[in-house]
Amino acid sequence: MEVTCWKDSQEWPARGSEEDRALLSHVLEDRLCSSLKGRDVLAWSPSPKEKFSVAQCSTILDRNLYGLAKVHWWKKIWNNFSWPKYNFFLWLLAQKKCLTWENLRKRGFQGPSICFLCAHNEECISHLFFLCPFSREIWHRWWEVWSHGCVHATSLIDFWDSLGRPPAKNSFLQVAWMVGPIFILWNLWLERNRKIFCDSELDSL
Ligand SMILES: [Zn+2]
Repeated sequence: MEVTCWKDSQEWPARGSEEDRALLSHVLEDRLCSSLKGRDVLAWSPSPKEKFSVAQCSTILDRNLYGLAKVHWWKKIWNNFSWPKYNFFLWLLAQKKCLTWENLRKRGFQGPSICFLCAHNEECISHLFFLCPFSREIWHRWWEVWSHGCVHATSLIDFWDSLGRPPAKNSFLQVAWMVGPIFILWNLWLERNRKIFCDSELDSL
């Protein structure tokens, strides 16, 4: 099944990997129905209005993945403050499904398993996004902006657990507190990909 999602005229995931599409198709296949006066259409069946919503999709994903287990961090991932492609990326990251060298090797790929951001350590999710010296410097600067002590997380769940409430009452700053880390994580991933596929130099800090 081909899955194409749209938000504000932007297609998502426009460049999702085959694995991403397969995962999304699997989750969605029972949630789409087809019936409209004899004409086949795709509709979001859980909603009476047949209209897709991120909140409802997150509930279904939650049930699919965790049964009745109570998780708190999904609300931070499936929020309405950022683009769906970022939310989906975070969701993959929380599941440790990002295709780092560690995960590729588990699937039989042959590769160097080198972190392309520091060229010193093996590349796994913990290292790439949280422990790599390059990433740590970015996080250090993020916490400095907020005059907040640096949080040393080793996973996304750790990070969310440590993030706590926004240190400001201003609503713009509250959104920035939520969305900033998402952009940092996403751009670390882009920088890693640029380094591998475009052989780009690291942006100077
Ligand atoms: Zn590194």
